Amino acid sequence: MLTDSHAARRITDEMVALPLLASDDSYRIIAHRFQGCADGPNVYIQAGIHGAELPAILVALHVVESLAGLSNADAIRGDVTIVASSNPIALNQHFFGEMVGRFSVADGRNFNRCFPDLSDSFGAWLEAQHRPPALSDIRACLRALLAREKPETVAEGMKLQLMRLAIEHEICLDFHCDGESVLHAYVPDHARSVTDRLAQSLGLVAMLTGSAHNSGSFDDTINGLWSLLLARHGSSPSAFRRLVAATVEFRGRGDFDPLLAAQDAGNVISFLRDIGTLEGAASAPPSKAKATCSPLVGVDWGHAPVAGLLAFNYEVGNQVSKGDVVARILDPSGRKPMSEAAPVHARTSGLLFSRSHLRLARAGDVIFKIAGAEALPQNENPGALLEL
Ligand SMILES: [Zn+2]
Repeated sequence: MLTDSHAARRITDEMVALPLLASDDSYRIIAHRFQGCADGPNVYIQAGIHGAELPAILVALHVVESLAGLSNADAIRGDVTIVASSNPIALNQHFFGEMVGRFSVADGRNFNRCFPDLSDSFGAWLEAQHRPPALSDIRACLRALLAREKPETVAEGMKLQLMRLAIEHEICLDFHCDGESVLHAYVPDHARSVTDRLAQSLGLVAMLTGSAHNSGSFDDTINGLWSLLLARHGSSPSAFRRLVAATVEFRGRGDFDPLLAAQDAGNVISFLRDIGTLEGAASAPPSKAKATCSPLVGVDWGHAPVAGLLAFNYEVGNQVSKGDVVARILDPSGRKPMSEAAPVHARTSGLLFSRSHLRLARAGDVIFKIAGAEALPQNENPGALLEL
């Protein structure tokens, strides 16, 4: 681990090596640390776990820049740690001119799955605590549990290091982007006082609530720990109520716009002010409209029934009604590709918040997502609540 201090007194860049490569080389991640001077909530931000989701990385880089440029009048109360580019492995996966960021080519796994699951041992530790433990004790416990983990691949080592950084903070934000989408977030059911402020500060268009249960994603893994804590000691310290991880999707992959990213970063700074991590008054919310709030079990993950060219009838951000033909799939070798196109219907009414950025679908691909209000029967299996 290398440490490189900036001239400014409170900023440190921690370079964390990710070993286990065949040669002496190693990947590394850089954690920008801004040390707080008081007891504001600590916040951790990471971006780019899926590599190719560059708009998310750009927003995080702008947040780093903004924090480094704060005047002394804007004191940092809580610790803020930012890993703006959290997955150097994915950034280096290029094949025939394309970056493959979502999955590891070494083992085919989604990089945002299989984060170290500490729930059994943390649950056992919690059971032995007859009084609500202090946050410092909780962190010490999690540190000790992570120290026992033995990663066997570079990706596992990376996830372990990211968790090691994250568990020191109350609020963890994981920045991503989708195929083509509006600004939205996945948040758990608890800590709504924090996530509702996040929605307002960022101007989220949609918020998907609930857990995908044991998906192994970064946010679910952390929220799983806090669920155990709240189940055991939920009625006690209010500090527990702000322990939360959320995934923010900064629109689509094509929405790589430095001006937009600077604006989003300004809204992140405003959120940090709003929750007391930074001194100073939060700016007015970017939008008066409230985010559409939908349970994860109410999301219609529209699948392509057949392979073919993908033609959408609606834009992201449109409202659709159950039964509407959201997309048509054209057989490129069919005799009447237009008139015989396969329709894909909305199975719920709600906001079309995301659609594929590709225009060639394989059978079974998720091609759009609609935020509906009611639980859908196809979502009974919690394992089906996230894309691969
Ligand atoms: Zn992602």
